[in-house]
Amino acid sequence: MNLFETVKASVTTRQAAERYGIEVDRTGKACCIFHDDRHPSMKVDDRFHCFACGADGDVIDFAAQLFGVGVKEAARQLAADFNISYDGKRAGREPSRTGAVKARKSLMRRLKNYQNENYRALCGYFRLLRQWETEYAPKQPDEEWHPLYMEAIQNSARVEYLLDELQGCSPDEAREIIAQNKNEIGRCANRVREIRRDRKRAAHEIDR
Ligand SMILES: [Zn+2]
Repeated sequence: MNLFETVKASVTTRQAAERYGIEVDRTGKACCIFHDDRHPSMKVDDRFHCFACGADGDVIDFAAQLFGVGVKEAARQLAADFNISYDGKRAGREPSRTGAVKARKSLMRRLKNYQNENYRALCGYFRLLRQWETEYAPKQPDEEWHPLYMEAIQNSARVEYLLDELQGCSPDEAREIIAQNKNEIGRCANRVREIRRDRKRAAHEIDR
């Protein structure tokens, strides 16, 4: 049997998940590594299947995603960590800790990216609010407030608070904060997109 066949025949996805520090509950479910998953929706047994995003595959696909490498390198890593011989070659030295460490690093990297993405979305919105707060500030006391000025007054403190929270925390904590405020952050991101689209359209009108 070649490397791929041997690894698949020797290690289940569940064993790999557990070895690489992914929490698997009693029903054999873990948080999906293919999408941002807060509650376990990925079934891991011989293979894996995520009921939320539909990701599906074998232990080598799983390790490849986990480590952020190609399938060949993933298979080699599994062979090393589970002491598996293939192609008539004896397994190498004692399995190392590198697999688990790599997996953790790769997960942290992904979480960090996720944290940054959400942070940037909020930052973009916050900059707009700040701008509106001065640009549309009423000039007379009895003047009716511009809707964008109102939006700025209503939302800046809250957005600033979320930014502060996200800035000073670990990627794991950020995941919690983002999950708790998902809709709100989503609305901010949408608002920025909307405004950019309107501005582009306005610029286009002027060009014509
Ligand atoms: Zn998934």
